Amino acid sequence: MIQQAVGQDSPSTSEPRHHEVAIVGSGFSGLCAAINLRKAGIDDFVIFERGDSIGGTWRDNTYPGCHCDVPSYLYSFSFEPGRWSRKFGSQPEIREYLEHCTDKYDIRRHVELEQAIVALEYDEGKGIWRGETESGRQFTARSVIAAGGGLSNPAIPDIAGLDTFEGETWHSAQWNHDCDLRGKRVAVIGTGASAIQFVPAIQPEVGELHLFQRTAPWVLPKPDRPFKKWERFLLESVPPLARLYRFLIYWTLELRLIGFLKNVKLMDQVRKFGLAHIRRSIRDPELRQLVAPDFTPGCKRILMSNDYYQSLDQPNVALTNAGVAEIRPHAVVTGDGREIPVDVIIFGTGFKVHDHAGKIDIVGRGGRTLKAVMNESAEAYLGTTVHGFPNLFVATGPNTGLGHTSLLYMIEAQVHYMLQCIRKIRDNGLARFEVKKDVQDAYNAELQKKLAGSVWATGCKSWYLDDNGHNTTLYPDYTFRFRAATRHLDLSAYDTRPPLHEIKHRRRVGDLVNELHPTA
Ligand code: NAP
Repeated sequence: MIQQAVGQDSPSTSEPRHHEVAIVGSGFSGLCAAINLRKAGIDDFVIFERGDSIGGTWRDNTYPGCHCDVPSYLYSFSFEPGRWSRKFGSQPEIREYLEHCTDKYDIRRHVELEQAIVALEYDEGKGIWRGETESGRQFTARSVIAAGGGLSNPAIPDIAGLDTFEGETWHSAQWNHDCDLRGKRVAVIGTGASAIQFVPAIQPEVGELHLFQRTAPWVLPKPDRPFKKWERFLLESVPPLARLYRFLIYWTLELRLIGFLKNVKLMDQVRKFGLAHIRRSIRDPELRQLVAPDFTPGCKRILMSNDYYQSLDQPNVALTNAGVAEIRPHAVVTGDGREIPVDVIIFGTGFKVHDHAGKIDIVGRGGRTLKAVMNESAEAYLGTTVHGFPNLFVATGPNTGLGHTSLLYMIEAQVHYMLQCIRKIRDNGLARFEVKKDVQDAYNAELQKKLAGSVWATGCKSWYLDDNGHNTTLYPDYTFRFRAATRHLDLSAYDTRPPLHEIKHRRRVGDLVNELHPTA
């Protein structure tokens, strides 16, 4: 609960500063919002970043081999094509791209680093948001963009005895670069999107690598290679060519959605392709069996790698699907009772995706927290606005995730939509701009109907689904449809109210008119 009112003396070092917009997080979404606010002539905004530099998930994930699995000419802003050395950008390149955008669009002066928000609350009386950071910096804002991202809080499983382990242990998103892995016995838990990238990167140097696989993922070849010099020259110096290349990537990926959404039978072709990739890459027949997935491709994210399978087929690697029963001071015990001595344990176990608001308790109307509302049922309108949370915009909110193409396409569409709302709020001094409950409900009922026939509902257990089995993460339609839905703001979807003092003023004027003209 934030007690401090705007303009009152603050017990902390500074008074609350007011901003038209406060952005939480400086990853792709936060930066995209900031750049577009500036383009729209709204300069009075701040970005609060909990880390010591900008970049979100692409700053945090520094694990060896970290790459994007979406081609970079689509995994970049449409207005800033970037300069890419290869088809699929590496983490250092993507991070550099984000730094470049921050400077080029003059965003850095808006960023406050190491300012983790610890409280954020909507003041119904004044129609503003009040917030405070860990260091005691207080602020108010008419609108808030929550751009903390879904992949920001690492998930480490609660395994018996983990706290007794005497070696080094870390999560893939918090890589310990000080620990020299050469010759060490390393346990890796998880075989998801991150693990299939760092396992081949560390395999040649470690002494032993024990990989704990719970579910074998579908892994396809990655059509990656460095750009030739002349290709780079043309893409970087002839902008229409870069746009055409982006356009072709977009449609190639978008067409894949037919198999995910409309005709799941088409995924049989992916299955054949995936099994052939296993046969080509692995000689050991037992290992081939172990890594063969048993669910419909696409139900969980389809991964891409040209060296993951080969790295498993090496003498210093042992893959088990027996599970982890327990961790001892110097060993991992498998589900079938084998004690495997290890020096290091690395978790590639994903993120707390369903913890929507991260660690921030965003308190909306009536004291309800976004966390509690989302835990009950993670729903938003257009993945962006949530009933009960006026003037709040959630970037990459519920059902905006994708399994087939670039999330940046969705982010740009969302930001375009937010900007229309924020302009309306600013131009009309709106204290309350809140999506109507029935509009939000109808939107989500439609989403769930579409999801029912999709590949994501074919029975696998994935982080796309919440604890109740609802898919609250993926957008079940073509991304151009999302763009069309967010292109124009339909005001009838929202309850809008001017600030309280204006309502009182209008009432006073109304009373006066009634006194003078009682029948009016
Ligand atoms: P992930 O893909 O969700 O994989 C997590 C892995 O950990 C899975 O193999 C999972 O097994 C396993 N796991 C989780 N809890 C476990 C437990 N208690 N015991 C044993 N195994 C457990 O996580 P991630 O690799 O961190 O990637 C997360 C997301 O980040 C991806 O889905 C993707 O959206 C994004 N990402 C993107 C890129 C990119 O190139 N664009 C790269 C990396 C990550 P189950 O499958 O059985 O649950």
